[in-house]
Order: sequence, then structure tokens, then C-alpha cells
Amino acid sequence: MTPILFIDRDGTLIVEPPDQQVDSLEKFALVPGVIPALLRLRDAGYEFVMVSNQDGLGTPAFPRERFEPPQRLLLQLLESQGIAFRELLIDPHHEGDPAGVHTRKPAPGMALHYLRDRSIDLARSAVVGDRRTDLEFAARLGVGGFLLGADGCDWAAVAHALCNAPRTAMVVRSTRETRIEVALDLDREAPPRVSTGLAFLDHMLEQLGTHGGFAISLHCAGDLQVDEHHTVEDCALALGQALREALGDKRGIERYGVGEAETPMPSRTALVMDESRADAALDLGGRPFLVFDGNFPRERVGDLPTELVAHFFHSFCQAGGIALHLSVRGANAHHMVEACFKAVARALRPALRRAGRTLPTTKGTLA
Ligand SMILES: [Mg+2]
Repeated sequence: MTPILFIDRDGTLIVEPPDQQVDSLEKFALVPGVIPALLRLRDAGYEFVMVSNQDGLGTPAFPRERFEPPQRLLLQLLESQGIAFRELLIDPHHEGDPAGVHTRKPAPGMALHYLRDRSIDLARSAVVGDRRTDLEFAARLGVGGFLLGADGCDWAAVAHALCNAPRTAMVVRSTRETRIEVALDLDREAPPRVSTGLAFLDHMLEQLGTHGGFAISLHCAGDLQVDEHHTVEDCALALGQALREALGDKRGIERYGVGEAETPMPSRTALVMDESRADAALDLGGRPFLVFDGNFPRERVGDLPTELVAHFFHSFCQAGGIALHLSVRGANAHHMVEACFKAVARALRPALRRAGRTLPTTKGTLA
């Protein structure tokens, strides 16, 4: 079964000029990132169909001889990079023209034969475009849609979503004490975006994403006028819940993480920051448990009470279904807390990795 990517042209493959008509080579420019994304999608088995409205094509306002040179250049450039189209579907009608009522996007008329073709994988097929009407076209075809541009995504995100089937989750947790929005993508590394109102907690949560190798976005508005407790606890609960949801049924993950245990050097199972050393070992199998061993020499680090460090990991484990053994030794409380978060992140990294194989399971889920 072949998945099809239905691709709009202007604003999607080539930049749309202010007058919305690409009728000369001077107006020709590729949309950033399109070629590497299409190569990834091609290698993942996708075939490409161009679906474009070209208002008034073939009339004196837009004669074919002005349309053809940029179109030929586009096809030649893409072909030279190994990207070919299975079909070009161009509708020449203006909006409101009764003759185009069934064929002009968002009407699905030009692509209906793909719905009848049993060799097409509609579940994996999608539309990429730069207008809401492209998304409406996708909806009418019954396939997924991607909106490019300032209000949408870029080509790299389209390729990531379709080729990696990324494990993502979005959790919104609202209580009387806090409101938290957290988004995770376990299959994409990206600069972390964290704001909790506690600068040191922000710094620690950023370490989880950076050293854990996943994209994290977490924003919390908490009752810091009371104290830090609810913010720390609820951020941990929301993060754990998001991790659990992103992992889904956990098929194919490594599950166990022991620091850098994928290397045979036992000295790398710990994370060291100067005089401090933290050891982390965890199991994502669904049974929450925390064993924490450590005493901090100061009551606070920045705006974070150190008594809440173990509490954070306890809440994280409870919501995430994680068994975690974490110990820390040291003299500098800042180093010690940071070593804890980095050690857990470094233990998460191999545990979250998809091994491409299914672990022994009971009724399809981890026991
Ligand atoms: Mg367009």
C-alpha cells in the first residue's frame, strides 16, 4: 500500500509572491526545507501528487506561456534531486466559477480516483498546504492535513510527523493551586521551553529534556504566593502523566535505563558534577516506586527548597509509572540537585529509545 502526499504548490513548494501569481522566473523561490523533507518522505515510501489552484490559467489574465517556465523549473529542480510527482492536478478556475465547483480546492474532485484505488494507503496519506482551504481539502478526502507557515509548521515538522510516527503527548492539568500545560515529543530533540515561576526548577526541567534527548515544553502558573510546594509537585505530576501518555503501550522501548549503562563502563552509570555524584537507575514498566538516598547541606538552592527534590521525583514516578532508584552525595547543594536531574535524564535517554523490537509482553502490554 502506497501513502500519497498531496502537495499544494504556491506557498508550499514555491514561495507565494504578494500578487499570488507565479508567472515569471523572477518570482521563483523554493520554500525553505522542502527538498530534504521530500527526500525523507520519498525514502519512507511516499509518492507525491501536486494539487494546485491556478486562478484563470489559460485566460488572457494568466496565459499558459507565463505559467509554464516557473512550473518547468520547479519540476526540473526537484527531479534533479530525485523527487518526482506521480501526478500533477491543476485546476484553472477562479473562486466562485460554477465550472470549477467540483475540482477547485477545497473540493476533492481532482483527487477522487485515489479514494477508489485500493493500492493507496489512505491512513498514512496526507495533504500539505499553506491555506485553511488545503486543510479542508484534506478533511474532504478523509486524510490528515499539515498547514505550513507562521500559523502552522515547517517542512521538517511534516517529515518528522509522517516518517517518525513520533511519541508525543500534550497534558493540561488545572487545579485550584496550579494550571500547567506540558507537551512532550520523545522522538525529537529541541531546545527546552520551560517557565514555572521558579527559575531553578526551570533550569532543572530543562536538564531533563536536554540530557534526556526529548523535546519538552512546560508552562505553569502556580500559587507561589502560598509557597513552592504545589508548583513543584504539580509540575512533576503533569510531566509524569505526559511521559506515560507519550509512551503509550511502550512497545519496542528499551524500558530499563541505568545512567549510561549501554556502555560497558560501570564508572559511567553515575553522573558527576565536581564533588557531587548522583546515581540513577529506572524502570518505565508501569510500577511506580521511588528509592531516594541523599541529604542536602542547604535548605534552598535559588528559589527551590531542597526538601522538594525527592518530592518532585516521587510525584514524577507516581504519575509516570516509573520505578526510580536515585542517590546523591556531595557538599555543594546546587551541584547535588543538578546531578540528580541530569542523572535521571541520562537514565531516561536509553530507556526511552525505541529498539525496533517488541519486549516480552503480557497481552500486548508491559507487566
Ligand atoms: Mg498555496
